[in-house]
Amino acid sequence: MSYLNERVSYLRGLVEGLDVGESTKEGKVILAIVNVLEEMADEIIDLEESLDETDEFVQSLDDDLAQIEEDIYEDDDDDEDDFDDDEYVEVECPNCNEIIYFDPDVFTDEEPVTCPQCGEELFKDDEE
Ligand SMILES: [Zn+2]
Repeated sequence: MSYLNERVSYLRGLVEGLDVGESTKEGKVILAIVNVLEEMADEIIDLEESLDETDEFVQSLDDDLAQIEEDIYEDDDDDEDDFDDDEYVEVECPNCNEIIYFDPDVFTDEEPVTCPQCGEELFKDDEE
């Protein structure tokens, strides 16, 4: 963006061509304005350069973050409820149709598993 610098340089040329110089109050003011314009143009160019660098940095951070999110969440797409599918089994009571979640550890041959809602014994082998 040398565009701003070029325009300010052109303006300085015009002012010097008018030969306003330091001899008049108006000339001093005009030269002071041109000096400020030059400084502002330099400042803006520096800002644009650092903004470009910041943009690149943010973009690379965003790419890294996307990669990390992909690594972390790629296996958990189906995990929408509060239960871990590996630890609980879902059973519908044949008597009251209540949905019950069991830890598989409660399935033993000795103890009958009963519905906490109606007390009906679940998984009766001798029926149906
Ligand atoms: Zn039940």
